[in-house]
Parts: sequence; C-alpha cells; structure tokens
Amino acid sequence: MAQTFDITVFEGDGIGPEIMAPTVRLLRQLADRTADYDLRFDTVPAGATHYSETGESLPKASLKSAANADAILLSAMGLPNVRYPDGTEISPQIELRKEFGLFAGVRPVRLVPGQQSPLDLPDGKTVDFVLIRESTEGLFYSQGKGEVSEDEARETLLITRDVSEKLFEFSFNLANSRKDQGRGIGKVTCVDKANVFRAFAFFRDIFDAEAAKHSHLKSDHAYVDATALWMVQKPWDFDVMVTENMFGDILSDLGAGLMGGLGMAPSADIGVKNAVFQPCHGSAPDIAGQGKANPFAMILSAAMMLDWLGAKHNNDAMIQDGKRIRDAIDALVVSRKTLTADLGGKASTTEAANAVVAEILEHA
Ligand code: NAD
Repeated sequence: MAQTFDITVFEGDGIGPEIMAPTVRLLRQLADRTADYDLRFDTVPAGATHYSETGESLPKASLKSAANADAILLSAMGLPNVRYPDGTEISPQIELRKEFGLFAGVRPVRLVPGQQSPLDLPDGKTVDFVLIRESTEGLFYSQGKGEVSEDEARETLLITRDVSEKLFEFSFNLANSRKDQGRGIGKVTCVDKANVFRAFAFFRDIFDAEAAKHSHLKSDHAYVDATALWMVQKPWDFDVMVTENMFGDILSDLGAGLMGGLGMAPSADIGVKNAVFQPCHGSAPDIAGQGKANPFAMILSAAMMLDWLGAKHNNDAMIQDGKRIRDAIDALVVSRKTLTADLGGKASTTEAANAVVAEILEHA
C-alpha cells in the first residue's frame, strides 16, 4: 500500500510561485506513476506579499500546517522594498528554521563532468562536497535583537553546545554515508574563525570532541577566509564542511557560483523532526514575472525532499525518484539543452521544467 506524505507548500514571493508551480506538477506526476508513495500538498500563505496585503508575515494556520506536515517545500521569501518598521525584511524562512530547530542547512555543491563552471578543473578533478550551514543561531540569532543608537550598532552571535553537538553529529553521519556511497573520502572540515574569536574556539572544541567519536573518519579545521580561497582554488579537497550560520550563508553563494549560479543550488534545512526544502536563492525580484527564472534549484530541492523522506520512511521508490530528477537535470546541464538565461540558454521557466519531465520520461 502506498505511504502517503503531507507536504506543506510555501510559494513565497517574486519568482517563488513561478518555480514552485512546475515543481509541484513534477512531484505530482512522479507520485502518480508509482503505487509505493503518494503526496498530499497543502499550499499556505506567508512572506512579503502576504505581509503587505494583510500585515501578517507568517499566519498561525500556515505555521500549523508546516508543523504537522511530513515535509515543507518552500520557494523563496522576501522583497527588498517590503520591510518591518525596524527596517529589516520579511523572512518567514528564517522564522521556520528557528521555530522547528532546523539546525542543519545542507547545501550540496556538485559539478557533473561537462557542466559549465567558472572553474577550469584540472583533468581527473571533480567537485562534489556538502556545505552544512548551522541555521538557527550564530550571528542570525541576533535577528530582530540588534541594538542601534545614534552612534553605535551591536549584534550578538550565539553558539550553544546543544545545537553544535547535534550539528557536528549530523555532519559526521553525513560524511559516513557519503563514504559508504563512494562519494567522499569521509572527511569533515570545521570552518571557523577560532584564531580571533573565543566563540569559535568553543565551536571548534565541540567539533573535536565529536570527531573523536568517529575515528574511522577524517577531520580537519579551516579558517573561513582561507576556505573562501580554497573553494575556488581546490574545491575537490572538500567532502563535508560545517560552519556557523553567517559564514555558511556567504560560502553557500560561493558554492552556487562554482555550479554556474544560484539557479543550480538546492538546499535542505533539517532538524530532529521537521525539514524545509528550498533553493539557496532568494525571490529574484529583478526577473520576477518574466518567465526567466531557472526552476532547477527548486526542483533539485524537491529531489532532496524525496531523498530525505525516502530514507526516513524506508521508501526506495522515493529515493529512486530523487535520483531520477538529479540525473535528468545533470543530462540537461551537460547537453546544454533547454537551459534558462542564467545558464546561457534561451528557455523559459516552463520550458526548462518541462524538459526535466521529458528527460525523466525518456529514461523511464
Ligand atoms: P536573489 O537570490 O533573489 O538574487 C540574486 C541574483 O541571482 C539576481 O540577479 C537574481 O535574478 C539571480 N537569481 C536568483 N535565483 C535565480 C533563479 N532561480 N534563476 C535565475 N536567476 C536567479 O538575492 P537578492 O537579490 O539578494 O534577494 C532578493 C530577495 O530575496 C530579498 O528580499 C532577500 O531578502 C530575499 N532572499 C530570500 C531568501 C530565501 O527565501 N531563502 C534567500 C536569499 C534572499
């Protein structure tokens, strides 16, 4: 009998609805082809547009749907010209991470052979690593709590033992499973600034204590500034890297750049019970409403959702469908067929998304 999963969908702002619609359509088609799982979607409001219409950024009913769902699919939220009275932006995606304790922001950085990248990779080298961004505390803990006077502004970074322990355990477990799949050498790199800040020396000590529990895996440390350099100069050296929220926010855009842009960068925010799957990019107001948005990062995030649900519920059909999506996008990116403008093509959002479906059906 099919296992049925409830998915809460946030279409969000800007290009959000444009990339979410074909993603949900694709998921529906995949689920309709199998007797092994089914998906039930509940589309709920939140975000900057909803705030400007109603004065509410994340309605209680939307939060309730998300809390009860098996997984949450989110596009992008926020618009630069819609702000709270304190000048900050509407960002329910950050509230969801805090509300559900989604400490592990998983951001895969992967180049398939033949994929265009600003990097000129030496022969035999490939890029396949995962950046884990702590997503509930760090400098983002200070959101809404900053103190600003006429002459001074202060924001406070928070790192807790409890969250750091869970974060590092998650990172070593991921390195372990990547090693088992032949995708990595089983190494976790702690990215910090422990040479300057006591908070990061604390972070590093907790990392070392977790590393000691995984003697069959490798571990090392890198400062965040050097990491930015090495992600460009020798990205093939990384397997799993784990870092603080703000550092991860910045480095994950660098990772997206290595893959050809934000339109290729998926992500998952994972906690003990809940998980949100969303692209790394924002609402791209500069191209919203023009049919130009690349849907691949959103669709790849949906593939991560299928992986996560499949692994959690022992549902192999979901894991296979996640792989089908990735294989289809890999094939399109390498053949350079039906790509959107950000990847140098001429396809519209709908054409690119339809090409993913066609590619999947061709190999069915
Ligand atoms: P952005 O990621 O929206 O856009 C940066 C650049 O990348 C733009 O030139 C945009 O056109 C391009 N881009 C992004 N996604 C694309 C896609 N799928 N296809 C093609 N091009 C794409 O970042 P920004 O401009 O700094 O932020 C815009 C808004 O989004 C802001 O309000 C910001 O707060 C919000 N934001 C939300 C999230 C989120 O929901 N997780 C993340 C980042 C930014």
